[in-house]
Amino acid sequence: MYASASPSPSISNRTIDLRSDTVTQPSAGMRAAMAAADVGDDVYGEDPTVLQLENRAADLFGKEAAVLMPSGTQSNLAALLSHCARGEEVIVGDRYHAFKYEAGGASALGGIVACPLPTNETGGLDAGQVAAAIKPDDSHFAVTRLLSLENTVSGYVQSLESIDALCAIARTHGLSLHLDGARVWNAAAALGESLARIAEPFDTVSACLSKGLGAPAGTVLVGHRDLIAKARRARKMLGGGMRQAGLLAACGLYALDHNYPRLSEDHENAAAFAGGLTGIDALNVEAGPTNMVFLAPRESDRLPLVDHLAGLGIRIGAPAEKIRVVFHHDVSREDVVRAIEGVQSYYDAA
Ligand SMILES: *Cc1c(COP(=O)(O)O)cnc(C)c1O
Repeated sequence: MYASASPSPSISNRTIDLRSDTVTQPSAGMRAAMAAADVGDDVYGEDPTVLQLENRAADLFGKEAAVLMPSGTQSNLAALLSHCARGEEVIVGDRYHAFKYEAGGASALGGIVACPLPTNETGGLDAGQVAAAIKPDDSHFAVTRLLSLENTVSGYVQSLESIDALCAIARTHGLSLHLDGARVWNAAAALGESLARIAEPFDTVSACLSKGLGAPAGTVLVGHRDLIAKARRARKMLGGGMRQAGLLAACGLYALDHNYPRLSEDHENAAAFAGGLTGIDALNVEAGPTNMVFLAPRESDRLPLVDHLAGLGIRIGAPAEKIRVVFHHDVSREDVVRAIEGVQSYYDAA
């Protein structure tokens, strides 16, 4: 069952961490930018590097204003708090981060009612179901206030057409629109579209600097000036007002200059990894159009495969029906080859 690690020129001892794109280490260039940053007290609005990043983000997304948040979770929560009052409702995908993976914050801290809708295999919502979920003005119902979408979803890009269709329905009914664009950078790279075009139908967009962009922390929330002012107050309420945050903003600015333009390399590495595994009958491989690949081994192979790779210094997602493998800034093409060889060596020995 278990192959021993066969010595091969491509095998080094360095661990290849493919669990997530959040595991990246700040590069030497990013650390230098951080060390050189001019900083001030950002709660006083006096950190020049934060202001520079916020202006840059607002421009990139074609919005009036931006606010730097410590995390994507706080950014989504601050956005939802800015859109919805207590007892008001957000329509959201049942597999979307803002609904499923944020500890119920919108409900616990905002009294916001979630109306989760089935999310299809590639992350989309059904337009008819969205329309049907918008409540009429009737005192029995929560007031439906917001449609919250996500792009990318598990590495899958949501097309402009599908997003535009969902947003048009929401607008017809007077809803506000939020995009959880934690990995919107990958969507933009894959679509060959500008961030501004992707952001266009939305009132607010949240975009993480700490994933594919390789910064140690930080998310930008962009949108209309009045909404961003509300979100800034929510950030303070949630404990996210940071002082000399220019150290983090400098990483974000560095990432926009140096790491955003190279994201398609991660997409190519994901495709190369998936392509290298096509010959294995007992392994189903799903590759989305961005930086994630999902391995669907037979049930009895799930844990042994993950363990086998760990023994070779290759970490992938937790054993499950679909095991996530994520490509990022710190993964080279040589690492991709090593990962393919690692999976193949498991099946050769099986
Ligand atoms: C990671 C992620 C977030 C939250 O970001 P954190 O910085 O980890 O809090 C939100 N939405 C999506 C889709 C994500 O992938």
